[in-house]
Amino acid sequence: MRIAIVSDIHANLPAFDAVVADWGQIDALWCLGDVVGYGPDPVACVDRLRDLEAVCIAGNHDWAAIGRLDLAEFSGAAAEAVRWTARQLTPSARAYLEGLPDRHLEGQFTLAHGSPRAPIWEYVLDRRSAEENFAAFSTATCFIGHTHRPIAYAMRSDPATGRPTVTVEPPVYREVAIDQGRHLINVGSVGQPRDGDPTARYVILDTERQTYLRRRVVYDITDTQQRMRQSGLPDVLQYRLAVGR
Ligand code: ZN
Repeated sequence: MRIAIVSDIHANLPAFDAVVADWGQIDALWCLGDVVGYGPDPVACVDRLRDLEAVCIAGNHDWAAIGRLDLAEFSGAAAEAVRWTARQLTPSARAYLEGLPDRHLEGQFTLAHGSPRAPIWEYVLDRRSAEENFAAFSTATCFIGHTHRPIAYAMRSDPATGRPTVTVEPPVYREVAIDQGRHLINVGSVGQPRDGDPTARYVILDTERQTYLRRRVVYDITDTQQRMRQSGLPDVLQYRLAVGR
């Protein structure tokens, strides 16, 4: 099976459509949450995921938009965007977000938004938190998002001591094998990258070959920015799309 894995679309329809156009033939689509929030097209992004029959889990912005999280946890611009998003949701888009689970087991793979240990909120930002999270899932591989930064952590046994050791694996844009050891893979963000590269990011998983491939996709950022301006979303959110921060 060839599976596209996306995360943190954040209501950025031009970015999501560019990714859909990029992936070619796929057998399934998995989405790791934060479908909405920040961006100008929350309902269209929900509709697109539904049309594509995505397997989808919830992120913190999805829960905030349906009133399941306290806005005190969000920064000023993020909270403002959450309130704007909540006002846009149609009953059917709201029902879709309400039905999303907070983590999901898909065959041999665990899917979580932030981390397998605390799926809605935890940011896995370093080797130590990755190490602790390997104990929180039972499959060989887990896919996450939430930080908007593509990175991977691999657990393999040290040839000298036989003890499991976790290494940090910076993103590469070619096929990576996952047939040895265990892997915690952050797929990056479609709609609001924060690693200094503004292109939309996602992953193609090949379950037969036991590999994953990261993809970078150029999209029309000015299109999204213009839609945000028309919607009255905070300026700072428009600017950051251009710099990927
Ligand atoms: Zn997010």
